Amino acid sequence: MSAIMRLAEVDGKVLLRRHGIALPRGVLLQAGETPPSDTLSWPGFLLKAQILEGGRGKRGLVRRFATAADFRAVRRLIVATLDDADTPLLLEEAVDIAREIFVAVRIDGTQQRLELLIAPQGGENVEQSVKLSRVPIEDPASARPEVIYSAIATLFPAELAARLARFTARLPDIARREDLELLEINPLALTQDGGLVACDAKIITDDSAAFRHDANEFAVSRALAERAMTALERSARGLGFQLVETPGNVVLVTSGAGLAMMMMDLLADHGLRAATFMDNQRGAPDETMTERLTIARGLAARPNIKAIVFQTVIASRSLAERVDALTAWINAEPLPKPLFVGLAAGHAAARKMSTDEAITKLRALGVAAFTDPVALVKAVAQAVG
Ligand code: GDP
Ligand code: MN
Repeated sequence: MSAIMRLAEVDGKVLLRRHGIALPRGVLLQAGETPPSDTLSWPGFLLKAQILEGGRGKRGLVRRFATAADFRAVRRLIVATLDDADTPLLLEEAVDIAREIFVAVRIDGTQQRLELLIAPQGGENVEQSVKLSRVPIEDPASARPEVIYSAIATLFPAELAARLARFTARLPDIARREDLELLEINPLALTQDGGLVACDAKIITDDSAAFRHDANEFAVSRALAERAMTALERSARGLGFQLVETPGNVVLVTSGAGLAMMMMDLLADHGLRAATFMDNQRGAPDETMTERLTIARGLAARPNIKAIVFQTVIASRSLAERVDALTAWINAEPLPKPLFVGLAAGHAAARKMSTDEAITKLRALGVAAFTDPVALVKAVAQAVG
């Protein structure tokens, strides 16, 4: 099984806790479980559905209540709103929030470095907050509080800005050590007595670094991701590769996450969106082209799909064999949508058949074939965009 990407709040908080970030007291309750007695003395409560999507507050999936006696009624309201009644719930002590702040560290994709984001108004409407400070992190092992302070000094009173600068200076190192794509705390609560408490956690781990981490941790997130898998994603896993369905109109067949992401970005640059993300599965057979193509044909029959893009980069396996397999698949039965093929082959791969010969052969079959991925995506955009 591949690594999960997004962590449920409760798992995100486990990660934050081991790095010394202050959190509200909390206890995870499975469906039907009642709160342990030591929670009865908490000053107030929040009950929070553990799902892998955000915006829970607005959907009524995060609810605050004053007395422990209200637990059952509040749980009933939440469960009625959930798609899956077995979703675990996090019961937390309510924090007395004086001010909600937004902080996040994320990988700045274009620069390939971390950046810190800090907004003076956190909470549910943070996307409407116009004031957002972005601080590039040159050295994630030692983000300097002075640099952060000067970036946020106009957004907060001086003392709070200084405290926040020290708090957020720790986050890039956590993201680096845990291999995170995103570490977002919203709201970070400034409490009535001046503390900073992480009331929510949105954490996305970098899949490709999963081998560095314990495969059994974050069990709640794993179980949720497993239950949220589509039938097609499940069958892809059975066939030996990872498939993620995404809302888009181009079925993208690739092997390897890096190539897939590059193609997804290229498509997006041309106003197209990929409907699939494919990656190799750790420990699986490395040749799953036929299986990928079978899934692609099925997906392409859907009315919203406009094209199929097959992009491959071959280092040492035979290009000729791959073109043969592709040709057999094309000839097997008519394709539901136009196919665009991109080929790149290293010297060893092109021994039996050169890239130009492969292109000629595919074009003779009426397939749009390219060596340049940009030309390919431009052709897709022209045909279906
Ligand atoms: P999200 O909507 O999925 O991001 O879920 P959150 O965990 O952020 O909860 C939604 C909202 O509930 C937050 O934006 C806060 O405004 C509020 N909230 C969360 N925890 C607490 C708390 O401990 N005390 C108070 N007063 N409000 C909270
Ligand atoms: Mn939140």
